[in-house]
Amino acid sequence: MATIRDLTARYFRVPLAEVLVDAKHGEHTHFELITVTITTSDGLTGTGYTYTGGRGGRAIEALLNHDLKPFLMDRNALEVEATHDEMQWHVHYVARGGIASFAISAVDIALWDLRGKRNSQPLWEMAGGADNTCRAYRGAIDLDFPLPKLLKSVQGYLDAGFDAVKIKVGKPDQAEDIERVGAVRNLIGPDVILMVDANYAMTVDGAIEAAKAFARSGITWFEEPIVPDDYKGYARIADETGVPLAMGENLHTEHEFGYAFEQAKLSFIQPDASNCGGITGWLRVAEMAATKSLHGGIQVCSHGMQELHVSLVSGRANAEWIEVHSFPIDDYTTRPLVMKNGRAVAPDTPGTGVEFVWDKLEESCLRAA
Ligand SMILES: [Mg+2]
Repeated sequence: MATIRDLTARYFRVPLAEVLVDAKHGEHTHFELITVTITTSDGLTGTGYTYTGGRGGRAIEALLNHDLKPFLMDRNALEVEATHDEMQWHVHYVARGGIASFAISAVDIALWDLRGKRNSQPLWEMAGGADNTCRAYRGAIDLDFPLPKLLKSVQGYLDAGFDAVKIKVGKPDQAEDIERVGAVRNLIGPDVILMVDANYAMTVDGAIEAAKAFARSGITWFEEPIVPDDYKGYARIADETGVPLAMGENLHTEHEFGYAFEQAKLSFIQPDASNCGGITGWLRVAEMAATKSLHGGIQVCSHGMQELHVSLVSGRANAEWIEVHSFPIDDYTTRPLVMKNGRAVAPDTPGTGVEFVWDKLEESCLRAA
């Protein structure tokens, strides 16, 4: 038995090199990283984390310090899944699906890091061990990039060895979206995979029209065309267009994923371990995707946090793509994402394999303050 002896939550505000814009979240000037380091009675430490698009991080830190830390002290650190569930109920009434999901994710990832270190197992093995590599696509928050800059940015992904790319859509004028998607397809040629992401900016009818137009440019999926809560709206878009749909970054509880699997006719699900209950939450979604989806067993992908998801997506047999996100987390870890022969490679380090360069994070915070 190893009990939780200490929990330290830390908050970092990490600047972006330029202001980035998508259809629904306004301007991104920085992202927030909230880390949790847990020390156990046998002297091991594990670190987990979550992140935001720039807002809410202080509330996550407060929930960790004031509500979860006292609740977790002296608990058995080996009971990762039970602790995950008990944390959910502990803060359910005030924070279900929102701040709670982020805070619980950070703790859960720290407990999995400890589990891996204790058992000398890397995360891709703990996640199922199917493989230690996976497919990866590159995307950016590029809705406001003028077309020449967008094309230059996409060309940069191809030059870096990616064979799959994603761009933002959701311009006020749909004709502009259609033109941009067509121009990117022209640039990348017929063989490179192309996805689009509207960050839920459209109405159901607008999305149906857009999906039909994007389909002419050969898209692999249309991500978050409409609000994530309108599961039946997703089903209507899928039925009327046949275009494969993806979502998941805005689903934060197992129940939300359950409704999506039952009702939304998705072709891909994209849980994010930093906001769906950590590794425990992500693996449960992967299990549900195999058994509960309305479209049959669908492929699990991931949103953001490529340095961690590379292990989860690689390890699961029913998982396919990681998103390689434009938040520069790789600048602050000891192992930037490794790509080999066009595939992302999971770390073999026991635990999550994600280690932060703390000095650099502290410095970045000062710059962003
Ligand atoms: Mg997205």
